[in-house]
Amino acid sequence: MSSSVLTTGFSEVRVRFAPSPTGYLHVGGARSALFNLLFAKHNHGKFILRIEDTDQARSTEESLQMMIQDLKWLGLNWDEGPNPETLKDMGPYGPYKQSERLDIYKKVADQLLAEGKAFYCFMTDAELEIEREKIKAAGLHTHVLSPYRNMSLADAQKKMAGGESAVVRLKVPDDEKDYNLHDFIRGDVRFPSDMEGDFVLLRSDGMPVYNFCCVIDDHMMKISHVLRAEEHLPNTLRQLMIYEAMNWTIPQFGHLSLVLDDDRQKLSKRKGAVSCDQFRLDGYLPAAMNNFMALLGWSHPEEKEILSLQEMISAFTLNRVHVAGAVFDRVKLKWMNAQHLRALPNEKIWKQIEPFLKEAGLNLPTDSDWQVRSVETFKAYMEVLKDAVALYSPLDDSKYEILPEASEAYAMEPTRAVLAAWKELVEAHPTETFTEADFLKIQDEVKAKTGQKGKNLFFPIRVALIGKPHGAELKILVPLMHKKSIIARAQKALEKC
Ligand code: GLU
Repeated sequence: MSSSVLTTGFSEVRVRFAPSPTGYLHVGGARSALFNLLFAKHNHGKFILRIEDTDQARSTEESLQMMIQDLKWLGLNWDEGPNPETLKDMGPYGPYKQSERLDIYKKVADQLLAEGKAFYCFMTDAELEIEREKIKAAGLHTHVLSPYRNMSLADAQKKMAGGESAVVRLKVPDDEKDYNLHDFIRGDVRFPSDMEGDFVLLRSDGMPVYNFCCVIDDHMMKISHVLRAEEHLPNTLRQLMIYEAMNWTIPQFGHLSLVLDDDRQKLSKRKGAVSCDQFRLDGYLPAAMNNFMALLGWSHPEEKEILSLQEMISAFTLNRVHVAGAVFDRVKLKWMNAQHLRALPNEKIWKQIEPFLKEAGLNLPTDSDWQVRSVETFKAYMEVLKDAVALYSPLDDSKYEILPEASEAYAMEPTRAVLAAWKELVEAHPTETFTEADFLKIQDEVKAKTGQKGKNLFFPIRVALIGKPHGAELKILVPLMHKKSIIARAQKALEKC
């Protein structure tokens, strides 16, 4: 364990990824999960998955399942949290779903109320807004200190017994002071306390707000480092105030810079996939996704680019996490995927592309020699797994048809003779399969026999093999085709003459 990363009060590196299950897993979120995992594993610590589902209107079971599936697909395995199969709690600090921890938050709120550090507030939103406007007009601080902040707990409880509803607010310090945060990515950040008015901890229906749950959970789950997205930096002041009120040890914070599109805007769907699920469906490999995401804001000490998860874990230190926004370069991601894909043994590549070929309804030979040979031929042309569909389609006999583009070939006078010669020579071939050299030899023989060359020679042969005069390289395809299938195709092409 490299204990140097720990501050006093923490005996082990414990980090968490804390998604709100309100949609799909965005690659930005997955990058936060990955950085947490890399940091935890590099320091022999624990990686925790916590589900922040107190926003009951927006949280769904379906989204939770999807997020878990995506994290599993990426292989970002957590040590504690919902069990990836059963979703039952796994680890000593559960429940790991905030909706199951409401009594815990209530207890902390009660303690703060009893200590006079929090109070019941009866201001309505409309009243609050009027106060805010008044303060603004007077050019004063922009926050509201509630008139109920000094009401005794007993009086407030009486009011509530009389049927009035109240929120619970934290009584923020009214002396002017700074809250200083040393963010391990962004450096020193100063928050003046008057940035914040008395803020809500529990809503009037008793539901706790994000900042409150987050601090309580991070404390109770003994989180040593909070590594999360930059957009949460403004929340940190409220969180520091809650730590202070509870007199709890503050973990170290690091806020990861935004992931940007190539036009340096926040990564959005307009430019292409942003959900992990979509990248999986498009045929990206988890290993490539992890490699690519790791380099969105971190770099290897030797500037190595193609890295396995293990290599990333070994090399991951926070001092190499950059503060600049990271650009999501989709061209680079494709390239990286191709590198990871081509580095796999052919059998493994086949296993990866097979579901895509099945999904596309392709009927292809089932013998493993053929499969391995076809991968050897095609892998140089594949960047994502889905590319296999277009590459393998010409090999499915049931998909062979004479396409409208073929009319260009049929309009040429020598086509019939070339097709006939082609068919005859293929039939005369002594073995059931063809090498590239066999194919080139037969092509030369057709040329000699018919006296045709160039377009007049190549167009009909292409039509006889792939149904159109342009496209796929024949010398690559033919060695993957069976003699009887080539003959049957040639016959179909001839019938069209
Ligand atoms: N639930 C928050 C989110 O999904 C996480 C906040 C945090 O990591 O503190 O953005």
